[in-house]
Amino acid sequence: MVDLNKLNQFTNINKIRLILGDQLNSNHSWYESCDANTLYVIAELKEEASYTRHHRQKLHSFFLAMAAFANSLERSGHQVLHLTLDDTSDINNAVDLLRYLAQHFPLQKIDFQQPDEYRLLVALRELKIDQVLIEEYSSEHFIVPLEELAKHIKPNKNHRMEQFYRRLRKQHDILMQDGTPLGGQWNYDASNRRKLKPADLTSIPQPLLFSNSVEEVDSRINKYNIETIGRSESPLTMPVDRSQSLDLLEYFCTEGLPRFGDFQDAMTDQSAFAWSLYHSRISFSLNTKMLGPMEVIQTAINAYSTQDNIDISQVEGFVRQILGWREFVRGIYWANMPSYAHLNHLSATRNLPDFYWTGETKMNCISQTVNQSLDHAYAHHIQRLMITGTFALLAGIDPDQVDSWYLGIYADAIEWVQLPNTRGMSQFADGGMIASKPYIASGNYVNQMSDYCRSCHYDIKDKVTSQSCPFNSMYWRFLNTHREKFSRNPRIGMAYRNWDGFDPEIQQKVLERGEIYLSELESL
Ligand code: FAD
Ligand code: SF4
Repeated sequence: MVDLNKLNQFTNINKIRLILGDQLNSNHSWYESCDANTLYVIAELKEEASYTRHHRQKLHSFFLAMAAFANSLERSGHQVLHLTLDDTSDINNAVDLLRYLAQHFPLQKIDFQQPDEYRLLVALRELKIDQVLIEEYSSEHFIVPLEELAKHIKPNKNHRMEQFYRRLRKQHDILMQDGTPLGGQWNYDASNRRKLKPADLTSIPQPLLFSNSVEEVDSRINKYNIETIGRSESPLTMPVDRSQSLDLLEYFCTEGLPRFGDFQDAMTDQSAFAWSLYHSRISFSLNTKMLGPMEVIQTAINAYSTQDNIDISQVEGFVRQILGWREFVRGIYWANMPSYAHLNHLSATRNLPDFYWTGETKMNCISQTVNQSLDHAYAHHIQRLMITGTFALLAGIDPDQVDSWYLGIYADAIEWVQLPNTRGMSQFADGGMIASKPYIASGNYVNQMSDYCRSCHYDIKDKVTSQSCPFNSMYWRFLNTHREKFSRNPRIGMAYRNWDGFDPEIQQKVLERGEIYLSELESL
């Protein structure tokens, strides 16, 4: 129940401005001036905390970041109503909260910023309250405004990130010189695929960690029986305000960016810092808008211009993730929602094995990735795409279950960015709207990019026996099963030619092994 004393401290309020948990953009034009009649409302809501089973650290991070944002607005002279689960326990969602507040205050106006999630945008656009004008604002966060996305991305069509990215580089004059890409190349993908050698392991930077107290938010999560996944961390090491986010960005530019591109795809289990490597870990700060994408890009480019240990391939690799992938997947999301959330091009129906929730599996690559995700609510891109993602794709797991795992386990997971990455890029359930081929691989890829296979129970070189690496037989089985769909795809043609060159007896044994593994997924 909302504490009325909390509400009654505000007098003369005729306008409410709603701030969602991922709208913590302190540079928004809303905050340029203070207004005695405007009340900013930011609220922990049970629906948001439980629409999927979130990682406990994800909830901690969101609740702490919201509280910090409310405090910073107050310090700047704004009137702020920060509600916790204690206040909102009998209020279902943001729309009900606004209706409730409209009964208490003589409102003339409610303002909201465009939510990044389809379900919330629809709900807020449908909201009608007698005598109250409801106005929608841009969140002023993305490089491509919501209204302009349709110019770049059409519904139900296949698009490729590279063209989109080049257009934005030209349009915003990013890493360009006289109309051509700086350094002469649009991308340096080919040089971004180095494996960590033993000599590289000692130079991996230790991650910058913060020390945020979680006792209060944690007790609220317990009190309202919010189910969570993952392991708790106290204090919380994630950034939960703008100042910590800026520190993390700066630390990344000094410690991570010089080798970011080189080791972007690398994985190891031989370092205490294997979970963070040279990655920025700024996705939570970006997705909650504590950092802006252009600000991040400019900071990285500035570091490239002033530090002589950063070459173009490192900075371009980083800029591509934010200007390219991040803006692009958002375009795919908005062009194709709500139907996108139900696509299942490969008719995948198996259940997600329990080891995605426990990390208990004999496959070292999955065990490392899942355990790290349970520990930190974080895994880097290649772990998400080529370990847990590829395994689910090869195993034909129902994309609804894959989505809900990814949406819950990562602190940065919000539907607009999680869904196209998972259902589209990783599971090929959109039939190729984002990716020109499914991201499948045998164990060889894992062996090339990591040292996981060295200490694995399974044998990376074997694809037939009960000791064989499951990725191997499941890879060939996948190709064989989906031959109709993929054999004419030029990017996979070579794999089919390899397969067709196998001795038929071996083919038979590999397929049988793949089937056995699929029937025993839980015990792998
Ligand atoms: P870095 O490696 O340091 O990259 C810098 C930034 O680039 C990231 O912070 C992120 O904002 C952006 N970025 C990089 N790749 C992508 C991408 N493919 N899509 C969008 N932005 C990208 N990212 C999320 O923010 N939320 C998610 O829920 C999410 N789910 C994913 C699910 C799957 C199956 C896959 C394959 C990828 C997913 N990603 C998601 C993208 C990417 O894995 C994360 O953004 C990245 O791992 C975050 O770590 P970082 O900040 O250290 O990134
Ligand atoms: Fe993963 Fe196979 Fe390597 Fe084991 S052998 S770590 S299962 S790729």
